Amino acid sequence: MSKTGTSNASTVPGAASPHVLPPLPYAENELEPVITAKTMSFHYDKHHKGYVDNLNKLISGTEYADLSLEKIITSTSGRPEGTAIFNNAAQIWNHTFYWKSMNPKGGGEPPAALKQMIEASFGSIDACKKELAGAAVSQFGSGWSWLVLEGGKLKVVKTANAEAPLIKGMKPLLTIDVWEHAYYLDYQNRRADYVNAVLDKLINWEFALQNAG
Ligand code: MN
Repeated sequence: MSKTGTSNASTVPGAASPHVLPPLPYAENELEPVITAKTMSFHYDKHHKGYVDNLNKLISGTEYADLSLEKIITSTSGRPEGTAIFNNAAQIWNHTFYWKSMNPKGGGEPPAALKQMIEASFGSIDACKKELAGAAVSQFGSGWSWLVLEGGKLKVVKTANAEAPLIKGMKPLLTIDVWEHAYYLDYQNRRADYVNAVLDKLINWEFALQNAG
């Protein structure tokens, strides 16, 4: 029996609320020349969408079918039998957060309130950017570089694969994707060039400040 009363062939029984791919906060060509529309089309339309499609298939008919994305992430984290569900759910969350961590008009100086917090924790904006780039470049293999808030202090952490600071009790403020699919078409092996261009031209300090509140 359909919960909505409108049954059709694509309705998965038990999947009351399939997860959907959130819209991008800008057009796919708006991050050029730092990130090309070609990279965006693979990254968003194929990779990010793929995680959504996989998750919906994996949770259909399971105890996770009706849970929010965050709840799925926290309840499968560290459970070997939940690895595939965790990886896809966390990657959906991480990518949505990554798109918002950039803005076509980003880069430059952080808003005053964030600037103060950054200076208190890192000494200067440049030192903070250097740490974010350092974490991004030194992450071995696929992963993420994050600015987080923990115990009232800002710090930089890196995570591997789909792992997110969310599950470690930290509050993420912004992130940079350092999986090869994020930069290889545009920068090949030059991960540092991609990361520094994102930090200088696209990073969304306003978003980080909102998350700190
Ligand atoms: Mn990615």
